[in-house]
Amino acid sequence: MSELLDAVRAGASPDVLAAAPLPATSRGIVVRREDQHMFDGVASHDKDPRASLHLEEFELPEMAPDEVFVAVMASSINFNTVWTSIFEPLSTFGFLDRLGRESYWGARHARDYHVLGSDAAGVVVRAGSAVRNWKVGDEVTIHCNHVDDQDPSGHDDSMLAANQRIWGFETNFGGLADITLVKANQLMPKPKHLTWEEAAVNALTNSTSYRMLVSRNGAPVTQGDKVLIWGASGGIGSFAVQHVLNSGGIPIGVVSSASKVATLRELGCEYVIDRREKDYRFWKDEHTQDESEWRRLGKDIRALVGEDPDIVFEHPGRSTMGASVFVAKRAGTIVTCAATSGYMIEYDNRHLWMKLKTIKGTHFANYREAWAANQTLIDGKVVPPLSAVFPLEQTGEATYEMHHNRHEGKIGILCVAEREGLGISDPETRARVGEERLTIFRRHDREG
Ligand code: NAP
Repeated sequence: MSELLDAVRAGASPDVLAAAPLPATSRGIVVRREDQHMFDGVASHDKDPRASLHLEEFELPEMAPDEVFVAVMASSINFNTVWTSIFEPLSTFGFLDRLGRESYWGARHARDYHVLGSDAAGVVVRAGSAVRNWKVGDEVTIHCNHVDDQDPSGHDDSMLAANQRIWGFETNFGGLADITLVKANQLMPKPKHLTWEEAAVNALTNSTSYRMLVSRNGAPVTQGDKVLIWGASGGIGSFAVQHVLNSGGIPIGVVSSASKVATLRELGCEYVIDRREKDYRFWKDEHTQDESEWRRLGKDIRALVGEDPDIVFEHPGRSTMGASVFVAKRAGTIVTCAATSGYMIEYDNRHLWMKLKTIKGTHFANYREAWAANQTLIDGKVVPPLSAVFPLEQTGEATYEMHHNRHEGKIGILCVAEREGLGISDPETRARVGEERLTIFRRHDREG
């Protein structure tokens, strides 16, 4: 039991929080260095996060002047939680060791355990001497762009910084813990109309989709654009759908169950393709793709919206990239941030160059984009796709669900918050956005 965390739970004043001693240790979800080869020779599908993720007490590091400690009320599972837990495509200890060699402050991260997690909502409990815009007691959400802001390579776009890292994936002391350590530049105001668990599940995926489909650094959607969105009820897909609708575009969502189709319809996505029902077979075997199947997908899209998509929102990677390049409109853009099913990609380049298409790579979001994406939540223009909540102790189970594509939207994790439903301080905005809209994914997950 910690006096400080009890004070946070009780909603104590900043003075009380500042006076309560910072505990020497915190609970957190870790992978262990000694386990990093435990799945060698095991097929990806069979690597079990429940075996590699552990809830442990870890020693809190010294805080740098530009950093804060945050008591994490809630966090979330991201696909990078899956990657870390199965040590694919690389063990994250390599990232920590590299950071450890960079500087005095970097050395704190190279430990024999990795506290993971790249999302959180909580309360600032300590602020470093160089932190100006945030103070103890502030309610925040945290984005995962970890950059040395004195490095000139990141001054135009912080995602271009040579030492840009994803907090809780390429750094230690992530959000799946009671206390996390972050740079002050990662903090954003918590949307006051959301519960802790609703507020915790957005920053990573919402910001990623924002850069991909709203920012000029991605493939910005304009009115009337048709946008094909793979995994449209997943973490990044559910935000992609909402950003396309907000920009006046027309999303065509691809999902793999009737329940997910219903979720998307309620979210406002009129055109949905159930890929399981259609049974597309883009690959005949491990080495050969089937252009007639790409063509079948293209016909299905035209049957729905009358033309080829201006933009394809890509992330499954190897399974779908050939089809994505094929179905994009002449001069269209395939915007990609991932390759869940495999990163060695194959597509027919003739369809790219002869039809003047572009493949655009993007990754997370810079400070401005993350802040703007958070503002869409604050304004109620975008709702959190929270579908399920697990306690911190069951992070392994929650990660297993995601690894096996059994979830919709986002899975929240309760850390310091005692129960669900806490943290709303602006009920008027909540009423305006609407309880029904805020709970679309929870209701469908329960019913589906
Ligand atoms: P997610 O919640 O699991 O959603 C992904 C969706 O993709 C699934 O729901 C599934 O939808 C669909 N999908 C999976 N495999 C597929 C396949 N072989 N063919 C077609 N559809 C497939 O995960 P997420 O959080 O959205 O993340 C998706 C990917 O983006 C992950 O690889 C993640 O690491 C990456 N990511 C990258 C960044 C970045 O900054 N670069 C940021 C966030 C996420 P259906 O089964 O319903 O079709």
